[in-house]
Amino acid sequence: MKEVLKTLGIQDVNPAYATGLEWAELGGREIREIYSPVNGELIAKVEMATKKDLETVIEVGQAAFKEWRKLPAPKRGEIIRQVGEELRKYKDPLGKLVTYEMGKIYQEGLGEVQEMIDICDFAVGQSRQLYGLQMHSERPEHRMFEQYHPIGIVGIISAFNFPVAVWAWNAMLAGICGDVCIWKPSEKTPLTAIACQNILKDVLRKNGLPEGIFNLVIGDGEVGSAMSHDKRIPLVSATGSTRMGKKVGEAVGARLGKSLLELGGNNAVIISEHADLEMAIRATVFGAVGTCGQRCTSTRRLIIHENVYEEVKNRLVSVYPKLPIGNPLDESKLVGPLIDQDAVDNFKNALSNVSEEGGNVLVGGEVLTGEGYESGFYVTPAIVEAKNEYEMVQEETFAPILYLIKYSGDIENAIEIQNGVKQGLSSAVFTLNVRESERFLAAAGSDCGIANVNIGTSGAEIGGAFGGEKETGGGRESGSDAWKVYMRRQTNTLNYSTELPLAQGIKFDI
Ligand code: NAD
Repeated sequence: MKEVLKTLGIQDVNPAYATGLEWAELGGREIREIYSPVNGELIAKVEMATKKDLETVIEVGQAAFKEWRKLPAPKRGEIIRQVGEELRKYKDPLGKLVTYEMGKIYQEGLGEVQEMIDICDFAVGQSRQLYGLQMHSERPEHRMFEQYHPIGIVGIISAFNFPVAVWAWNAMLAGICGDVCIWKPSEKTPLTAIACQNILKDVLRKNGLPEGIFNLVIGDGEVGSAMSHDKRIPLVSATGSTRMGKKVGEAVGARLGKSLLELGGNNAVIISEHADLEMAIRATVFGAVGTCGQRCTSTRRLIIHENVYEEVKNRLVSVYPKLPIGNPLDESKLVGPLIDQDAVDNFKNALSNVSEEGGNVLVGGEVLTGEGYESGFYVTPAIVEAKNEYEMVQEETFAPILYLIKYSGDIENAIEIQNGVKQGLSSAVFTLNVRESERFLAAAGSDCGIANVNIGTSGAEIGGAFGGEKETGGGRESGSDAWKVYMRRQTNTLNYSTELPLAQGIKFDI
């Protein structure tokens, strides 16, 4: 891992912020030690930014915006193309660091870097397509149209579980839109952020670009909170828990800024009696235990038709004990560790609470000890028979717990259970019956931002708009027309006549 850290420019102690090209001077700040959940070893230390540091970064960002917004969008796209090329070169070490710092298996670490590359490619194409509409004016010899202009500084607050991809989703689109970014990564995973900033910095330098287009601030929730309150940041894109999102939404809303919120999910797969069970089970296991249950789109509830309930349950219960759990850098393992001790405690508490409510733990729930599990964060994924109305089932526990819920009758009953939670991120149905799948996708069907048929809840592609409804926050990132949130829309009416007719035929002669 030493070689990986060296390649990515990670030092023993790393600075608190970067204003694009320049890093802060070390010294005099609180130090945070970053330990790997893989083996409990110290990876490196970081200095934590102060509010004064944030002030410096905002000032530099404001100055950079004045220049960056004037560069034509396709030229900005060319910079992002080069970022994508650099990410391709560093895919392997960056994927390893994602795994080592966050704990997801190496294949998923690589997948996360691939997502960054994909969004770069997407953003390059989008940079030539920042289209506004043209409308027919009701007045003669008038032209009416709309334009999209850059918005300013975009604050990006990201969560630990996708330590770099979510930043790239935001920053690459904001970049081609002509905005500058200030990224505050999770304080649990700052090193992957520092590695990305190093990669970016070289591209900016080679192109002779000004200081401050892509900035990084290493800090905790307090720095994030200061960003949400700051009027100089017109858009705050925040990914994390609903608890955090409510605070950010309130602070940004109070100053009438824009927020893009990507918060917790409580995602369900419905397995109908008409499902291809083989596919349904594979998708469920990946969705429930992938990233050790720490994806916002992880499958948390499995709503199974009574006619196939016993078969699905028995197959899952026989698969779970065979899952290879261990060092996520070892490619034979499919389940890595949880992020930290708090996550382990939440996992144990959720299982004990749901048991008290009447839940029946069928398999899993242990914390592994001994050789290979020294960090203490490895657990055996759990399956619990439960009811949708249980308090614990209604909450998002960020850990590998899968609740089995039985339904009877037709698909509407399953959809009602699926929609019967506060969150609204991802959902899926497994069925070979076209009526069922169409009902699931219709207006009275799933109320989530993502609704899939014969595909699980996790593993979204970047081409679609990503996000969810209700307590998931309503934001949309990544593909489709998500770019629009990073721009301000302007409606223009241009009069090339010799008269001054007023709209709605109003007469006003002076
Ligand atoms: P978290 O809410 O603890 O932290 C997320 C980020 O918010 C961190 O950078 C943190 O420092 C910052 N933060 C904390 N308090 C803040 C405040 N008051 N003001 C501003 N910023 C603040 O979340 P986490 O544990 O890192 O991540 C897990 C959560 O993220 C889960 O709920 C998961 O579902 C969610 N998530 C959602 C999506 C999505 O796209 N919907 C994607 C990834 C993760």
